[in-house]
Amino acid sequence: MEVAETIVSVRSLVGAARRRGKKVGLVPTMGALHVGHVSLIEAAVKDCDFVVVSIFVNPTQFGPGEDLEKYPKPFEADLDICVRAGVDVIFAPAPEQMYPVENFTWVTVEKLTEPLCGRGRPTHFRGVTTVCTKLFNIVGPDVAYFGQKDAQQAIVVKRMAADLNMPLEIVVCPTVREPSGLAVSSRNQYLSDQEKEDATNIHKSLEECRRMIGGGVAQAGQIIAGMRAILEEVPSIEIEYVSIVDTESLESVEEISGRVLIAVAVRIGPARLIDNILVDAGE
Ligand code: AMP
Repeated sequence: MEVAETIVSVRSLVGAARRRGKKVGLVPTMGALHVGHVSLIEAAVKDCDFVVVSIFVNPTQFGPGEDLEKYPKPFEADLDICVRAGVDVIFAPAPEQMYPVENFTWVTVEKLTEPLCGRGRPTHFRGVTTVCTKLFNIVGPDVAYFGQKDAQQAIVVKRMAADLNMPLEIVVCPTVREPSGLAVSSRNQYLSDQEKEDATNIHKSLEECRRMIGGGVAQAGQIIAGMRAILEEVPSIEIEYVSIVDTESLESVEEISGRVLIAVAVRIGPARLIDNILVDAGE
């Protein structure tokens, strides 16, 4: 496995692989790798001949007062995980590599970035779509892998790639959870044992939603009230949003009939946590 810290070096490694006819997969991450990231890497290793994992804590997707400075950076552990998973190249640029001068050029996806996380993090998705575009231009992958855990991000990036005719496929992999149901996240490290226990109510609220829809409840308002009641059982949970939205437009759904995305964002102690499930009322 090679570690490339510069754009020139990653381009040269990928270029050589491409000349040998290899199919190139990219897994964009911010590091602090865990089993969720590994599931994406495994999918890439399975589908592709040459796998690049980018590790870059992208400053432009963090807002003022967010956790940019304290974001975990266990680089040696990340290297071990990537070696064991069969990664060919880690692309780990310094911020100055990616943003050598003040950035004047942004990629923004309209509408889809307004609801859900876009409301509380108004510049977040602009940072995500811009850095993904840069990574796609630098690496030139045939396929890029994203997690369902960040459902809105996956939908936004898919739409960006389609709208801008980017020559790659976006694959979305299922959310990996702890046995408790808690979605695995680098930010779970910020939680105490008690807060981790409290955080399992996020998944419980989503499962209650699945149960209600399965039982024939169609009124989103009623379901959201049931979910909020489960989250409010835990005093340490501060709800940012509980939403039931259309899986393509991300617009709120009042009366559930087909497939919907149920998404939750909460704050627990020092961490902001998000989770979601897809439910098909027609099934
Ligand atoms: P991050 O390092 O948090 O930016 O995440 C990098 C990629 O891993 C994103 O596409 C995430 O959606 C994905 N990811 C993070 N956590 C999980 C998880 N628990 N299950 C599946 N994918 C995940």
